[in-house]
Amino acid sequence: MLMVETINIDKRLRESSRIHEVDLKNIAFGRVYSDHMFCADYKDGKWQNFTIQPYEYLKFTPGAAVLHYAQSIFEGLKAYRADNGDILVFRPEMNFKRLNISAERMCIPTLPEEIFMGGLVELLKTDRHWVPDAPGTSLYIRPYIFATDEYIGIRPSDQYKFIIFTCPVGAYYSKPVKVKIETHYTRAAEGGTGFAKAAGNYAASLYPAKLAQQRGYDQLIWTDGKTHEYIEESGTMNVMFIIDDTLITPSTGDSVLKGITRDSILTLARSWGMKVEERKLSVKEVISAIREKRLVEAFGTGTAATIAHIELISHNDEEFVLPKSHEGSFSNRIANTLNDIKTGKAEDPYNWIMSI
Ligand SMILES: *Cc1c(COP(=O)(O)O)cnc(C)c1O
Repeated sequence: MLMVETINIDKRLRESSRIHEVDLKNIAFGRVYSDHMFCADYKDGKWQNFTIQPYEYLKFTPGAAVLHYAQSIFEGLKAYRADNGDILVFRPEMNFKRLNISAERMCIPTLPEEIFMGGLVELLKTDRHWVPDAPGTSLYIRPYIFATDEYIGIRPSDQYKFIIFTCPVGAYYSKPVKVKIETHYTRAAEGGTGFAKAAGNYAASLYPAKLAQQRGYDQLIWTDGKTHEYIEESGTMNVMFIIDDTLITPSTGDSVLKGITRDSILTLARSWGMKVEERKLSVKEVISAIREKRLVEAFGTGTAATIAHIELISHNDEEFVLPKSHEGSFSNRIANTLNDIKTGKAEDPYNWIMSI
């Protein structure tokens, strides 16, 4: 990775780490925060005030634009501890690029690479002892930007805050999920903001997800907003199906989030000689494949779980039980390979790892 410029970061560090207060062997996802965060402010037309400071409460006005109009975007990535103690970050430049794609859509000023990468590397160096080393654990990294203007009215803010904080996370026991194909509510419309990791998208998805959970499903499979006939993604994961010997996943367009896990899996699958199709995939096609016993497996893909097997799909009040995954399943093999690359146990043929 070539970074021509570097940034000057002011550091205000804790006198002592809080890490002894935490049982790193037993952590709930998203509940435990490392000692420090990286912050930057956008004002007077440029990003400035680069600091690493304790993770602590922020001060901002009740009139802050983000609280009213959700001008806010985020990213999620992970760092892993290699056997030799190195800290390995998985494809951070992809998150950097996607953050700026989201920024553009939400009228948020884009972030120069040296600020994203410089802040990330310095933060990870500062809190490197927070990267857990037990199998399956990692450090979840959350970069985000939000509007801070004190202004009640709809227009892009003039001021923003960029923050990166990190959370050690435990082994993610991805138990198979039951999903419902959603044919009434819409996550993302054509021309909308579905391809952006924009805060409001997630608020809007809560209610339909809650209704499905009340009926015993873990997640929804979202369909297109126009016809509800085509599969888009699952919860906050992309979704993949193996039908006969082909790996099929919906093409992305502007209503599907372009997952980095998705891209990584497609790249590996192609390199293994697997048939891969990124295309429109109808609910009908999936249901017929299940009925004809040609559906081999179905799973969601994302940074949090890597892979979540789907064990049951409900569509129009009819439930379909899917084949069980096993040791040799494609999804298990790909999850293991990805995990070995991320933790430095396997070769990294695509230069996905940034080592710190
Ligand atoms: C973040 C996200 C994903 C998965 O993306 P990854 O880069 O693989 O973590 C998929 N769908 C939605 C809606 C998301 O927000």
